[in-house]
Amino acid sequence: MRNTSSMWLVAVGLGWCAAACSPDTTGATGVTGATDAAPSDAADTAQVTTAPDGTTTAGTETSAETTVPPSTLVDPHCIDGLYDEAVQADTPDLAALEASYTAAGVRTFVDQVLGLRYPLGQHLVQQAVAKAAGGNCIDMFVGDTSRADRVLMSLSTIVHECAHMLDNALSSFNKRTYRIRADLDFQCTRQADAPARSLINEDAYSALKPDDSYKDVYLDGDPNDNTFDSGDQGYDMLLEEAVQYVNSLATDWTLRDSHGPWTITAKDGILTLLWYLERYLRMTRLEYPETYAALTSSTCWRQATLTVWGRAWMYLDRAEDDRTLGIDDQEIRALVLDPDLLGEIQRLRDAEGCD
Ligand SMILES: [Zn+2]
Repeated sequence: MRNTSSMWLVAVGLGWCAAACSPDTTGATGVTGATDAAPSDAADTAQVTTAPDGTTTAGTETSAETTVPPSTLVDPHCIDGLYDEAVQADTPDLAALEASYTAAGVRTFVDQVLGLRYPLGQHLVQQAVAKAAGGNCIDMFVGDTSRADRVLMSLSTIVHECAHMLDNALSSFNKRTYRIRADLDFQCTRQADAPARSLINEDAYSALKPDDSYKDVYLDGDPNDNTFDSGDQGYDMLLEEAVQYVNSLATDWTLRDSHGPWTITAKDGILTLLWYLERYLRMTRLEYPETYAALTSSTCWRQATLTVWGRAWMYLDRAEDDRTLGIDDQEIRALVLDPDLLGEIQRLRDAEGCD
């Protein structure tokens, strides 16, 4: 539980991400995509929900498919602006599925709802259930199965965590795999010496959001002690987190009519991760040149990062006018749009050869 301007509850879904990954490839792969690297693990979802009266609960979702003008925050001629995916613009009626819901049929309910609203999320969950070790991820992250509306509120966490498990299953010791779409994987070579992501706490930007609740989850711990902390992980798992926070937002947006009066952190999560990505790139450019050179000289890492950036803005633009999908999102968005930090993304485009 946390307390800021209102009472909320932070539902921290168990992070996942094992340290088991591997290979190396650069460029597109798999289903299609680039290949090349990184290590670590432990993921989690921090979803905050605020009710009109200030009480709280775990997150929720939304959905639809739309044609939205290209974001001004992506380069229409580069990897980020060229990214596209099929999006369900409408909000198909869920009444029949909800009316026939039973707790015993929760797996089918989750599958069918995602099939109607967020087919890519359905793909990720189906693949995770089929390929990930450790149990059925729907069962692991569904929470309260007593009512259909409560299951709908857990869908973004289910997609987020199942997709982590899928990426872990697709990764190897040397390579980290990111399943972006059913036909797009990036499989990047891990960088064993990449600095801990928690080191960005030492930059000048950290003080700009002292109440950053995500920091306690993703940037925690001392990278120099012998205890594993989430924050000890490097760029590979930072990017993995961003990949899944886009999926969280996508799920919440496609189910935007299903979270009732609750205000949730769908936009806060991905915006925070975009801010972390920018800061990590800046930190390595200034203080860890070998890591920075490895990240920027790799087609896989470059394109994976720009793809996540482009996909994030695709959904952030769609969700921009929905105030129930964010709590501190306007504040965090301003941090992401710092001109110097946006320059880190531009450097990736420059390295990509985009004009
Ligand atoms: Zn996560």
